[in-house]
Amino acid sequence: MAETLKNKPRWAGLEYSTLQQCMRCGLCLSVCPTFTETRRERHGPRGRVALARSIADGKMPMSRAFAQEVYFCLGCLACMSACPAGVDYATIFEHARAEAEKSGLLDNPIRNAIRKTTVHWLFMDLRRLLFLGWLMRLYQRLGIQWLLRKSRIMMLMPKRLQELEAMTPKIPKKFSSRMIRVTTPAKGEKKARYRVAFLTGCAQDLIFSQINRDCVEVLAWNGCEVYSPKRQYCCGSLHAHNGETELARLLAIKQLQQFPPDKFDAIISNAGGCGSHMKHYHAFLKDDPHWAPKAKLWDAKVKDIHEWLEEIGYEPPPPNPKATKTKVTYHESCHLAHGQKVTRQPRSILHSIPNLELIELPESDWCCGSAGIYNIIQPVMANKLLERKINNILKTGASIVANGNSGCMLQLINGFKERNLPIRTVHPISLLAEAYRQRETR
Ligand code: SF4
Ligand code: SF4
Repeated sequence: MAETLKNKPRWAGLEYSTLQQCMRCGLCLSVCPTFTETRRERHGPRGRVALARSIADGKMPMSRAFAQEVYFCLGCLACMSACPAGVDYATIFEHARAEAEKSGLLDNPIRNAIRKTTVHWLFMDLRRLLFLGWLMRLYQRLGIQWLLRKSRIMMLMPKRLQELEAMTPKIPKKFSSRMIRVTTPAKGEKKARYRVAFLTGCAQDLIFSQINRDCVEVLAWNGCEVYSPKRQYCCGSLHAHNGETELARLLAIKQLQQFPPDKFDAIISNAGGCGSHMKHYHAFLKDDPHWAPKAKLWDAKVKDIHEWLEEIGYEPPPPNPKATKTKVTYHESCHLAHGQKVTRQPRSILHSIPNLELIELPESDWCCGSAGIYNIIQPVMANKLLERKINNILKTGASIVANGNSGCMLQLINGFKERNLPIRTVHPISLLAEAYRQRETR
């Protein structure tokens, strides 16, 4: 029987067998971006699992160095795809970060204040986040941002603040609630064959609300009645990946209340990171007799939009003789490729768009350095990975990078802007929506 660590509060709840599974073969090392960049055992999956096991065994105390190490890991899960022993690195990673937070070893007044404002407050109620987005929109549209940059007042700020300001995304004119109806009926001649729930997300809604609109349109064109309430909650992945298991649990319950899984054929996510987390609510709620069965059903019904469209047999757009060919490459979101194993479907959708020439990206599933908030907390490593990604993109000669995760999209947009590269980043479903719209106007 699996030995649990219930009597060791630092690792409470983690099955000890999860740590025992690693046979130290090292097959994961060559796919690990942090190991590849540093060549240090502790910065690779094998080293991290060994450190976690030593702490669990009581051979090593929980230390600040270990807490920092778990935040140096990207959580990209490439190691999980490579591991022949099936080590559940995602679970180890989440527990390790939770333990790092519980230990308080990383605490300092600035870090604590930032976490309290963002993870504990802003992302617990998306109305707050969208209000902040509205203020940022004013800051950008009233020309205050332009003035500050032009007047060089920014130069008086610390360098890191200047870098963060330069990364501020452009806030769209409207958020999803003003573009998407609560219930969008199936379009065209088709009757609604499916009823699906659609998650608008947090960063996705704040920065890429037009992608949400495109996704709802594409679903409706393919026989889905789409339910997407105006007030939604964060899926909790930000919290789970930053050691806030209890908050992640609360948000999972909010989602189950908002989208009872027995009322829908599928619950659709269009962001790799959110979908990957939402497929594992049962792991957070398994000890709750009321929510556990609902979470199990929920996990089975969560679908990434590419996966769902393939499953229901979406309609490929018709040829468009007037359109010129565009070279597109596909950068895989880590959590879509490694977390959800959705790799074939986005490519197949892109192939079906008549005027696109899909060029395979070297190292397409290598992390771009975005990794949630990794590019904010680990800028040096994040920039190295971004550089590597952009160099690979340039080899393809593509003018569009298709990608299915808001974090990666933002990272690439900033990378292209900084290097003055005329390359666009577009969600594959937005490209499909565009092809459908062209069909409508012909
Ligand atoms: S999650 Fe990514 S960065 Fe972390 S150990 Fe695995 S491959 Fe390396
Ligand atoms: S591939 Fe899996 S079993 Fe082998 S060292 Fe890496 S984590 Fe351990």
